[in-house]
Amino acid sequence: MRAEFQKPRGTQDILPPMSLKMEQMRRIALDCAQTFGYLPVETPVFEQTPVFLRVGESTDIVQHERYSFTDAGGVELTLRPEGTAAIARAYVENGMFNQPQPVRMCYYGPMFRRERPQALRYRQHTQFGAELYGSVYPEADAEVILLACAVVERAGLPDPMIRLNSIGCSECRPRYREALIRYYHEQRNHLCRDCQTRLNSNPLRLLDCKIDVAIREQAPDIEEFWCEDCATHYGKLTDLLSASGRQVRRDPFLVRGLDYYTRTVFEIGHPSMGSQAALFGGGRYDGLATTLDGPESTPAVGFGMGIERILSAVEQNLGIPSVTRIYVAHLPGFEGPSLLLAEQLRREGFAAESDLMGRSLKAQLRDAGRRSQIVVFVGGHEWEMDEVNVKSLQDGVQMTVKRDQLSDLLHQQFKINS
Ligand SMILES: [Zn+2]
Ligand SMILES: [Zn+2]
Repeated sequence: MRAEFQKPRGTQDILPPMSLKMEQMRRIALDCAQTFGYLPVETPVFEQTPVFLRVGESTDIVQHERYSFTDAGGVELTLRPEGTAAIARAYVENGMFNQPQPVRMCYYGPMFRRERPQALRYRQHTQFGAELYGSVYPEADAEVILLACAVVERAGLPDPMIRLNSIGCSECRPRYREALIRYYHEQRNHLCRDCQTRLNSNPLRLLDCKIDVAIREQAPDIEEFWCEDCATHYGKLTDLLSASGRQVRRDPFLVRGLDYYTRTVFEIGHPSMGSQAALFGGGRYDGLATTLDGPESTPAVGFGMGIERILSAVEQNLGIPSVTRIYVAHLPGFEGPSLLLAEQLRREGFAAESDLMGRSLKAQLRDAGRRSQIVVFVGGHEWEMDEVNVKSLQDGVQMTVKRDQLSDLLHQQFKINS
């Protein structure tokens, strides 16, 4: 195939059985969210570009990894790189702040970032996320984090680990920022090139650096700078999470890259992945909706989960619901009746298919072995008597039954749920 006809770089085709696992993961995430009262919201996959510019000005995503275009009407649009900004926009635009609070929402769908292609980093990836709007209380943070853990657990990774930190508020963070800049400024000649730039633009990100970890060890800890409200909020949250039975520990270096966080930031990991590796994360962003012309005070907390990443961790444990499939095989000349019997079975709620390749009966049985558990035979002597022969490919049990009793037999003798 010519290169120009191939899929764009950094994207993937998701084929069975992976597509089935994706679908199962989607079901688990959305079902789990609904048990917590988080209802799905679907926003467009593209937004007007200023939405993302406003929300994440100094982030890599917005600066270098945006898929933006101007449409024929001259409107600047961007494929959404993440879910949080779009949900904030929808909350404000639909006046959801007038509804009884909190508003619990979740979303699931494709996100787009022009990243450097590498393992598990796709330019189109799938994200599930939950957002809680309207509550300033630490119980809200706790609920969101417990939902994040529940999804991981339901997907097949028991005992997720929570790494937690607070990056303070507009009152206490500037003091910490200053102390951090002062500390790193003394070390600036030892810093990597990226960090020398970050020192001025986004000093909190210095703590994220994977190269300058030794320097970070002596860096000031934000805990010593928290104002009283921030300290109380953090204390209550960590107590609640511990009391819920979840594993939680403070990570003083956890800051997360995005500009819009306030107070709580967290990441969910798993013991099997090592103590620093994260599956995904989230946090509180009380000022976000306000930047999109929302009301003055609009507290919010949430997380976004990359589905490809989590699937790579749970794939082995993730069960796909099994369906008993029926193969309607036929003798030569009975292609039509075979197709119609399969259709009748499907209308009765069974999963059934027939041969469409003109195979011999022997070849059909081989084919049935690849895709089905039960074979129903159409044609021959029984067919003339209004009967069909049914065979289980698992235990070899075989029975003949009147055609109008086939469905009962499949339910009762073969225990197939339609
Ligand atoms: Zn504070
Ligand atoms: Zn660095």
